[in-house]
Amino acid sequence: MTAMSVPELSIVVPMFNEEAVLPLFAARLRPVADGLETAYEVVAVDDGSSDGTAIALQKQRRVWPQLRVVRLRANAGHQAAISAGLALATGAYVVTLDADLQDPPEVIAEMLAVARAESVDVVYGVRSDRSSDSRFKRVTARAFYRSMDAMAGTAAPRDAGDYRLMSRATVEAVNALPEYGRVLRFVVPALGFPSASVTYRREERAAGSSKYPFTKMLRLSIDSMTAFSLAPLRFATLLGLVGGAASLALLIFALYARVRGHVVAGWTSTVVVVSGVGAVQLLALGILGEYVGRLYAAAQARPSYYVAYDSATGSANPAATR
Ligand code: UDP
Ligand code: MG
Repeated sequence: MTAMSVPELSIVVPMFNEEAVLPLFAARLRPVADGLETAYEVVAVDDGSSDGTAIALQKQRRVWPQLRVVRLRANAGHQAAISAGLALATGAYVVTLDADLQDPPEVIAEMLAVARAESVDVVYGVRSDRSSDSRFKRVTARAFYRSMDAMAGTAAPRDAGDYRLMSRATVEAVNALPEYGRVLRFVVPALGFPSASVTYRREERAAGSSKYPFTKMLRLSIDSMTAFSLAPLRFATLLGLVGGAASLALLIFALYARVRGHVVAGWTSTVVVVSGVGAVQLLALGILGEYVGRLYAAAQARPSYYVAYDSATGSANPAATR
């Protein structure tokens, strides 16, 4: 492969302190990639590792010409590291997978075959079996996906993580999204490209330990929910309206009780002031919430539509008309 040619496949791999697993990963990925018998590149994104990952990658690079190493200045997080890889990958297809061998590289061949044969833009890797993940992880993940479904009704297939193949058009569409904190497993399905799935068995992490502490998992959940749903904000608006109405009712009751004459001196004025101010504040917060919601949606700047087909230009991918 020359420097100028565009590979058919880019394999993007985020890595944060993966020195322990790197030699195993390379030894398993390389025969699979070479066996595809097509031009490929591996884009390893070193997400600001503080262990020997950078050195181990340089070592691999000396013997593996298709390996490209990109190093981020600081730890940006799993999703941001994948985003960096997507921005730099040049392939007609791009596969993203974890470095810890939980996503078996052999499935890449299957994903590529499906993409070529069915001319779909996205091939999701769906986990048929999550028994290799901890009980805690499975229980929290289940609760998370349930609430995402309920709140946002996303088009994301069940049990799909970040092991997926994307066409160039899909990658460009993802790269063009300026929004902050993209959670790709929800962003990609929301783009609405024609897709297929392949199932695989999620394996144990081959070496090292998880780079996803509870705090990072929580961050990912909050990013996902706030990115796809205004439900939490709407809830705040609703609370404001209900609280405001209750305060108003209390105010009216206080005045009524005063007129009927059976109240302690000073009670009415106190209640009228407190509930009056409360009602105004809560109602105003509710209104503010609605405007914040609109601002937020505008800041995300998601395209309102994607054209699948136009008879004037035809379509590079006939499947896109489905
Ligand atoms: N990762 C990363 N940056 C981070 C955390 C994780 O690039 O801040 C990478 C990590 O090296 C691995 C992938 O993201 O390739 C998934 O992480 P991990 O396997 O630790 O997560 P888990 O499978 O435990 O959820
Ligand atoms: Mg893992």
